[in-house]
Amino acid sequence: MITEATFYQQLNEQYGFDSFRPGQLETLTALAAGQHVLSIMPTGAGKSLIYELYGRVTQQLVVVVSPLIALMQDQVATMNYHGEKRVTALTSMMPYSEKVWTLAHLDNYRYLFVSPEMLTQEKVMARLSQLKIGLFVVDEAHCISTWGPDFRPEYLLLGRTREQLGAPLTLMLTATATPRVREDIKRRMRLPAASEITQPIDRPNIYLQVETVADTSEKQQRLVALVSQLAKPGVVYFSSKKLANEMATLINDQTACRAAAYHADLADESRFKIQQQFMANQIQVVCATSAFGMGIDKNDVRFVIHYHLPVDIENYWQEVGRAGRDGQQAIAVLLYQPGDEQIADFLSQVGIPSDDEIHFYFQQAKLPEYDTDPKANLVWFYKQHGMTEAQVRELFTKRLAQRNGALQQMVRYVRTDNCKRRFITG
Ligand code: ADP
Ligand code: MG
Repeated sequence: MITEATFYQQLNEQYGFDSFRPGQLETLTALAAGQHVLSIMPTGAGKSLIYELYGRVTQQLVVVVSPLIALMQDQVATMNYHGEKRVTALTSMMPYSEKVWTLAHLDNYRYLFVSPEMLTQEKVMARLSQLKIGLFVVDEAHCISTWGPDFRPEYLLLGRTREQLGAPLTLMLTATATPRVREDIKRRMRLPAASEITQPIDRPNIYLQVETVADTSEKQQRLVALVSQLAKPGVVYFSSKKLANEMATLINDQTACRAAAYHADLADESRFKIQQQFMANQIQVVCATSAFGMGIDKNDVRFVIHYHLPVDIENYWQEVGRAGRDGQQAIAVLLYQPGDEQIADFLSQVGIPSDDEIHFYFQQAKLPEYDTDPKANLVWFYKQHGMTEAQVRELFTKRLAQRNGALQQMVRYVRTDNCKRRFITG
């Protein structure tokens, strides 16, 4: 039996920290007792340390599923920096020869970071099945559930994958904590009885505000006024790339601060440059789509403004949570123009194929319009993994109903006269 003292000793030896952050020790202790755990901790709270220490203390292989290659690379670099060399990553971006080499030499490693799509490959699964996995970690576990920008279809297969790997002890990590998402994660991982370790999701230093405007021109004026008056740096979220561009220009023209647009249409290097400039305070305001988010860790963001209605509370809270991570006062403003829910309604259905479309894709011998239509990719993905047309149809019907419910809840948040904070944090 591993004692708390052992965890403290490793914490001190390896990192030089004296105390655990809330949730860390509780999670480690539950894992040591053989429980599967869903651990919910805010971004920046130190989720990685949990599986790092677990691997050190038990000296067993830790496999970490992570949704973004950039996150994995960061993590490997950070661990190397802390003196842990037995760590590697397996991603689809690696040259074939490197993948083969890594797979052949897995015995040399204690930690393996892997993208979910790698776990859909037979060779990878065959190799991993030969190993004894001490801990299977699903990082950013909300990717299995939200239907928002972070959703990753490959995450839906992880429940099955985990069982194919001999059902190892499992740790699911996320910063998104609403009860619906929690239940969904556990259900999809086929671990309904997993212990939940939750930290309070409230962020008392973020002031929540909803402002209703009459029309588009008032909305624009209000945005410019807020950006001028509020303490910076800040982020403004848009649901359209075009508006993000236009409003960045407007802010640059009409205020003294420097703004830049950030969205998926920019080349990788310009996105990277904007991130860097924002981190270095050379840009005070980023006009972003939801592409700006996961993995960005600037702790002194003073405001987050939403120009459009987010499609659900979970996404809203996730984006709002990028403000005030340093614990200092911050503000979240949602600008609402009656009728905005129609745009959100449209957006929440983007990516959900109709029955006709599903039928069409199932009839094809190969994937049409690969890369151009995400719906085609999604349907194709499920087809490749053995789902029937009826099952796929049912999946999307349920999703649609769920989306509508979630959007209605978002609208109730805007309209409620009660405490906004209580509405979100329960
Ligand atoms: P998360 O994945 O929860 O967003 P990370 O695991 O990236 O957060 O950790 C964020 C930072 O917190 C890291 O720099 C890490 O070194 C630091 N950290 C983690 N645990 C502790 C601790 N017990 N004491 C002090 N700093 C910690
Ligand atoms: Mg993390």
